[in-house]
Amino acid sequence: MGEIMKSCGSGAAWGEMLDGSVNASNRAETWQDRAKCKGASASVFYPLRGVPTASARALCKDCPVKPDCLSYALEHEEEFGIWGGLSERERRKLIRAQARLRSAGERRLFEAS
Ligand code: SF4
Repeated sequence: MGEIMKSCGSGAAWGEMLDGSVNASNRAETWQDRAKCKGASASVFYPLRGVPTASARALCKDCPVKPDCLSYALEHEEEFGIWGGLSERERRKLIRAQARLRSAGERRLFEAS
């Protein structure tokens, strides 16, 4: 097999597609099927430290499943790579911001009760 392809989203679904164990016409379409990066080289989305991520971000910019991709990465705590147009550092920052908002909301609810 050639170069490793991006396996964003459901690794199982992509693995099954690659090894032929699932007939693509017999399964429901997933967001990964509509990903702009489908078939792209993994090295674009998992660059070595210091390597620019502009080409990955350019693909993500108008990807039709960008929200699904980012949600997946956040739910599965993906530590590496570009997902939904965000780097691991940007995703960690987003998670911290969400936690602060949740905490502030809970504090306001507590104070109002
Ligand atoms: S947002 Fe980016 S990484 Fe996610 S599916 Fe689209 S092109 Fe791929």
